[in-house]
Amino acid sequence: MAAAVPQADRQCREAARPTRDRVALDRGADRAHHICRIHHRALKVAERLERDGYGLGDRIATLAWNTARHIEAWYGIMGVGAIYHTLNPRLFPEQITWIMNNAGDKAIFVDLTFLPLLEKIAGAVKSLKQVIVLTDKAHLPETALPKVVAYEEWLAEADGNFAWKTVDENTAAGMCYTSGTTGDPKGVLYSHRSNVLHAMIEAMPDAMGLSSRDTILPVVPMFHANAWGLAQSAPMIGAKLVMPGCKMDGASIYELLDTEKVTFSAAVPTVGMMLLQHLEETGKKLPYLQKVVIGGASCPRAITTKFQDDYDVQVVHAWGMTEMSPVGTLCTLKPDYAGLKGDARLAVQQKQGFTPFGIEMKVTDDDDNELPWDGKTFGRLKVRGPTVARAYYGGIGSEQFDEQSWFDTGDIAHIDPGGYMQITDRAKDVIKSGGEWISTIELENLAVGHPDVAEAAAIGIPHSKWGERPLLVIVLKPGREPTKTHILAFMDGKVAKWWMPDDVAFVGEIPHTATGNIQKITLRQQFRDYHLPTD
Ligand code: AMP
Repeated sequence: MAAAVPQADRQCREAARPTRDRVALDRGADRAHHICRIHHRALKVAERLERDGYGLGDRIATLAWNTARHIEAWYGIMGVGAIYHTLNPRLFPEQITWIMNNAGDKAIFVDLTFLPLLEKIAGAVKSLKQVIVLTDKAHLPETALPKVVAYEEWLAEADGNFAWKTVDENTAAGMCYTSGTTGDPKGVLYSHRSNVLHAMIEAMPDAMGLSSRDTILPVVPMFHANAWGLAQSAPMIGAKLVMPGCKMDGASIYELLDTEKVTFSAAVPTVGMMLLQHLEETGKKLPYLQKVVIGGASCPRAITTKFQDDYDVQVVHAWGMTEMSPVGTLCTLKPDYAGLKGDARLAVQQKQGFTPFGIEMKVTDDDDNELPWDGKTFGRLKVRGPTVARAYYGGIGSEQFDEQSWFDTGDIAHIDPGGYMQITDRAKDVIKSGGEWISTIELENLAVGHPDVAEAAAIGIPHSKWGERPLLVIVLKPGREPTKTHILAFMDGKVAKWWMPDDVAFVGEIPHTATGNIQKITLRQQFRDYHLPTD
């Protein structure tokens, strides 16, 4: 029997110390600001859940923005020994229905914004017994959903006199489904142990380097890969959390950064870009923000440069996956790289970085032979560690895990002698030309550095001599009209000659998945009959 103190207890105790101002502040869906000490209300959630009959191992869903109430619900669920199951509202309704049925969710905490979505699907989720709407009675609209309660009134029936349930540390605490572009989504479970270890690992100085002096704004959603663990590591170290609610545009994020004097934030590149655009348009500055972690997709050089040079904000490029809790690597600078300046420094920061303590990684060829860490030989990226999944829920997708617990990430990467990993592709997207791989990510990052390019995607087009050659598909910024020659001239000399796209196609729009990634399968279908001028 492993140590048996639930994670919720340890973290919330710190978050709730009455003498210190450790709070979660948010912009909930139905009110401007809400200040909350997580601990007491989480205890009430647990007490209330137990009274309604929920307990060990029950899956309880959440369909909600990053708000204080969402965090309270998480800790309350964990505190009763049940499993918080975050649902991603950006998925298609049929996918969410499938996921809820697969997980067997018994109850759901839902934000007002997502009530119409839940109304559409709840009837098809057989296990669902109760809907707790994250609002108060005054704001609860008419709804045809059965067994609905308003969170605040439901919570008011408890006094918080509750002792956290004691469970084995290997008990499941959380659950999240991958938003895979092919096949059905796969369920990943996080144990109390893996969540605690993950929160400790990411807070370390050479990882995210979090401290109790930080004010943390997790823009990355709790419903996609655990808000990168910040809803756990911030309470663990006693930092103040600022929750953005449903507004993630540049102006709204800026307002929170400024009024709450946020020192640390984490977001995907698109949000970083929106914020930078807002700053450029308004001439505003970022006097409080010290560090921003950018991940989820490759961080374009332009974002790193602007944050660092124009606003004096350190960028930490990060890579991870739902299956990894999610943090896998972070790009802070070790002593060998710390003195680098200008382009050399930026080149390192383009990499996704090194694994923090606890996570192992390697790159292999298709026959599982380990490849050298020379910074150029790329292969399949595999990882393992106490915060990395060892199976999917229900045993599906087991081919991604081997007997030594190595998980095949499906990413293609190289690792340099200093241990810095760089993703070059998803395995299914890499272009194979003359038997050698061309990184589509590198071509895309380079292309978006052109001032007229809004978005770029590189795909392989069949070629009679080389097997495949790259086509660059581009969406231009409004009013810009560069030619193919301009774009190619801009890229020339910045990648190997044989990586240069054979052609450039301009389109009005690039297809995206429900979660905002470029949908390469659809794009390849669109260009199925495309004939390259070089063939
Ligand atoms: P998800 O599980 O939905 O968070 O997606 C994980 C996938 O996102 C990874 O396997 C990568 O393909 C991609 N990803 C995450 N972070 C990065 C990054 N910094 N650069 C490139 N790809 C990334």
